[in-house]
Amino acid sequence: MDYRKLLHIPQNCVGKLINHHWSWLGIAAALPLFGMATAAAVASNAQTEPEPPEVQQVVERLALPAFEFQQSSTRYWRDEPIKRGDTIARVLNRLGIRDSDANRFLYSSPLSRDLLKLKAGATLSVQTNDAGELYGLRFLNDDENGEQVLVALENKNGVWQASADPIVAQSVETMRGLTVKRNAVAELNQLKVPADIRNQLEEIFADQFSLASLKAGDRINLVYETLLHGGSPVGSGNLLAASIRRDGRDYQAFYFAHDSESGAYYDAAGKPVKQGFSRQPVAATRISSGFGWRKHPILRTMRLHSGIDYAASSGTPIVAPADGTLAKAERQNGYGNMIEIRHNAKTTTLYAHMSAFAKGMKAGKAVKAGEVIGYVGSTGRSTGPHLHFEVKINGQAVDPATNALPTPGLSSTQLAQFQTKSSALTARLNLLGSIPTNVAMLD
Ligand SMILES: [Zn+2]
Repeated sequence: MDYRKLLHIPQNCVGKLINHHWSWLGIAAALPLFGMATAAAVASNAQTEPEPPEVQQVVERLALPAFEFQQSSTRYWRDEPIKRGDTIARVLNRLGIRDSDANRFLYSSPLSRDLLKLKAGATLSVQTNDAGELYGLRFLNDDENGEQVLVALENKNGVWQASADPIVAQSVETMRGLTVKRNAVAELNQLKVPADIRNQLEEIFADQFSLASLKAGDRINLVYETLLHGGSPVGSGNLLAASIRRDGRDYQAFYFAHDSESGAYYDAAGKPVKQGFSRQPVAATRISSGFGWRKHPILRTMRLHSGIDYAASSGTPIVAPADGTLAKAERQNGYGNMIEIRHNAKTTTLYAHMSAFAKGMKAGKAVKAGEVIGYVGSTGRSTGPHLHFEVKINGQAVDPATNALPTPGLSSTQLAQFQTKSSALTARLNLLGSIPTNVAMLD
């Protein structure tokens, strides 16, 4: 997922305020002219009447109400793209904000230096007023533990406060339908189907065909979750259902959640759509925290997780789930003892918080599926023993459960639940299918 665009404070609000402000200045400048023109117009109208009475033309400066330019106390947010090498102080300087109070707080804030480091390509949102006073700033950052947080510094009644919290978002369903003309991937992009949904679609059917193989007249219908923060899309949830008509044949995939933490894709008959790795990195343990924007059970907020966590006791062996070559075996700040394995040109996996590496693990070493690479622990930024496991496809973190891990079969109870859900989604896909043109609807 690309989280760079995540924080979007409605820019048009700022634009409106600024425009409003300028139009007042415009009126102020024009007022003396209006005064003159009005007096002249009354006189000239009078001249066009038949048998004009004697008219004396008087040009007089009319008294105008005093116009005082008032410094606007309106606060507004502005978004500033973060460039390479930017610090918060440098961006504030660039925006003409010189607030010594704020600066002093920045350097004494309780947040760690890492959290206050800006990443090039992200956005820094700043709350200010016309006088260049600073009231707050916000940006998204990675807490180096696989979670995204909203870093906020705010001046509340003269007191500066700092926070780094999970991002609050709400989920809505989005439907998209496309009849391929030339290039399915480019046309999905034009329909504003997010990159991670396109990648997920590609991966679901990767064992059968690639999206690039779709031809003119083939059809794609999708239902997926869009996540909103403050009314603006901040990311995607799950691709819930996909149907593709390719060369006259129909392919379907429905997401089925095994529990609150993970799920997989099944066809209309309830059979797994994708063959994943042959095994799991830790055997017989449950996923304690799933991938993506997870709904917090109590706070009802959403938080982002770039991998999945397996609950396991310290010392539990971790195995390579597929053949590959170690890209990294090192100690990092947030991840602690970590290993990264490259499996093929596009797929890598990552293992974090290990208590120890298995013997001989170093970058460049080839490993076989099932080979022990290390042991579960709690090194780095971790609250207790667990394995944080990530899968990246072309460098993007994807849901390990739907993209790489073995897909479990459905029990009869699960199959019944699956059929209820998939038939409701099929009805929606069929609705899209009956509309002839490309649609982007029901956002
Ligand atoms: Zn994790």
